[in-house]
Amino acid sequence: MDQKLCPSCSEGILIPKYKQVLFTYQGGQYQIPDVVVQVCNTCGEEVINATEIRRMEKIAKQTRRGNITTPPHTHPAVGQNRR
Ligand SMILES: [Zn+2]
Repeated sequence: MDQKLCPSCSEGILIPKYKQVLFTYQGGQYQIPDVVVQVCNTCGEEVINATEIRRMEKIAKQTRRGNITTPPHTHPAVGQNRR
């Protein structure tokens, strides 16, 4: 098996996990689901590879344009879920 050593403690092994990550991009914060995060089983260091970061940037860009989340002209102050 191809096991990656942790760059932080050089003892632990990085284990890939799917996580929701809070990603900061150009002053905005975006919740990105199902990001592959390599988590060290010894020190808990979390490493996200360049491919995943590029994918998160793409999602953040699309979210910014309103393609994924709520459209830009909803008013958060006016309770949308009021029933
Ligand atoms: Zn480690």
